[in-house]
Amino acid sequence: MSDSAAVRLEPWDEHNQALVANVHPPGWTNPTPSGRYNLVVIGAGTAGLVAAAGATGLGARVALVERDLMGGDCLNVGCVPSKALIRAARAVADVRAARSAFGVDVPVDAPIDFPAVMRRMRRLRAELSPIDSATRFQGLGVDVYLGQGVFTAPDAITVEGHTLRFAKALIATGARAAAPPVPGLRESGYVTNETVFSLTALPRRLAVIGGGPIGCELAQVFARFGARVHVVQTGDRLLGREDGDAARLVRAALERDGVRFAMNVRVTKVERGANGKILQLAADAAPGGLEPLEVDEILVAVGRAPNVEGLGLEAAGVTFDTAAGVRVDDLLRTTNPRVYAAGDVCTPLKFTHHSDFQARLVIQNALFLGRAKASALVVPRCTYTDPEVAHVGLTAEEAQARGRRVRTFVQELADVDRARLDGDAEGFVKVHVAEGSDRILGATIVARHAGEMLPELTLAVAHGVGLGRLARIIHTYPTQAEAIRKLGDAYNRTRLTPTVKRLFETWLRWTR
Ligand SMILES: Cc1cc2nc3c(=O)[nH]c(=O)nc-3n(C[C@H](O)[C@H](O)[C@H](O)COP(=O)(O)OP(=O)(O)OC[C@H]3O[C@@H](n4cnc5c(N)ncnc54)[C@H](O)[C@@H]3O)c2cc1C
Repeated sequence: MSDSAAVRLEPWDEHNQALVANVHPPGWTNPTPSGRYNLVVIGAGTAGLVAAAGATGLGARVALVERDLMGGDCLNVGCVPSKALIRAARAVADVRAARSAFGVDVPVDAPIDFPAVMRRMRRLRAELSPIDSATRFQGLGVDVYLGQGVFTAPDAITVEGHTLRFAKALIATGARAAAPPVPGLRESGYVTNETVFSLTALPRRLAVIGGGPIGCELAQVFARFGARVHVVQTGDRLLGREDGDAARLVRAALERDGVRFAMNVRVTKVERGANGKILQLAADAAPGGLEPLEVDEILVAVGRAPNVEGLGLEAAGVTFDTAAGVRVDDLLRTTNPRVYAAGDVCTPLKFTHHSDFQARLVIQNALFLGRAKASALVVPRCTYTDPEVAHVGLTAEEAQARGRRVRTFVQELADVDRARLDGDAEGFVKVHVAEGSDRILGATIVARHAGEMLPELTLAVAHGVGLGRLARIIHTYPTQAEAIRKLGDAYNRTRLTPTVKRLFETWLRWTR
């Protein structure tokens, strides 16, 4: 791997070697630029790859610059490895519940082969990597440069001694794990999403700093694998952006898996002790102090910092800040009209699918004089805890903050046959409609496969399909998605006012 590669993949087994051979091939020879590019893309994560492939496919001359691993966070240290581990952890939970919930007589304390679990994750990650590989993109006609991209002028980028001139450029440099300024944390050592997937032994005791999506997903995974997990969260609620009822259900589920929570608690200092890493904790509610927490490993998951440093943005006339990232307008243009940005480097909605769709929008706007607006994208999201929390549109709190009056319909999964049969009865579908109509403003689903159920509601939000109309869509029986149709029925029942009912009764009497 080149010296500039920031992510260190361990262990150096056949799977990681196969991965790197695809996404940062050793000995790769950068092409020699000839003439000006229509589009130079810095960063080969989701946003960069989608933009490069799309633009080349439409006939543009495109250069793609990546300093580390093509595929970015999602493939290498994000969605892909985390979801592989989540699946394995679900298998553990299913085995543990097999006897009590399903009458299947398997030993509940069957040992977990953590190295095998991690090997499966590495194998799958490597198997998925050809689609993001340097040779595939080269084959598509993209000039792939491996090395650090730096703007040297408003219309030029250098990489490994080559100067790439461009008509348009896209900054798609993503984000990295933010580190809280806790004294002693760096010296004591910790893992983030960039290193946690390189673990080869299960930490016996794990502190997770941060109760957002990444913290919650991985806390549950490691607890299910058998680690004693403590989540330390500064606020009073997990998954701060999500519906309060959803967050409460997730917390209860994690607690059942053995995760302990220290809420409204700050880590003030970390030290290395004889038997582990010691976290000193403080809370306003405990002026006398809290018991220190001793663990074997610390996972930091306190948010993401945009990658804006070392890019030469000043030379390009691109305005940015280190918290919010590159500043863009609604067309994803930066303060340099030649330069656009997409993905985690410029948006608070840091999701792979959002990066993907922002990149598509950049192709239209940068290369074809388009006026597609980022604010028009309907961006669903899902946290892949068990149960999952999937959401689209506004939460009730957001609607209230915008002065929108909503009516909320809730269908508990306990009243959905398939959820009962599956043993997944804990959860709900909640839909907020605009007061006085069936227009869906937002929806939250808490269910084992909430992310798979959400697209129907995303479609409804994006295309203005009212909740009442969803009742007229035949859903196969028995499915958990029937919960959505039931909500449509619930909405339609509200239209059966006493007057309408009286009219129906009169008609029926008359036609008897
Ligand atoms: C643990 C974890 C789990 C996640 N799970 C999900 C999930 O389930 N679903 C979901 O939608 N999202 C998930 N995400 C978020 C998702 O990974 C990101 O939103 C997505 O990867 C962002 O894509 P991007 O292209 O904007 O940036 P990135 O994927 O970060 O790619 C940016 C690329 O730019 C490169 N780069 C940076 N600076 C330079 C430079 N100067 N020169 C050259 N190259 C440069 C980087 O090396 C990197 O490869 C997860 C994230 C994490 C951390």
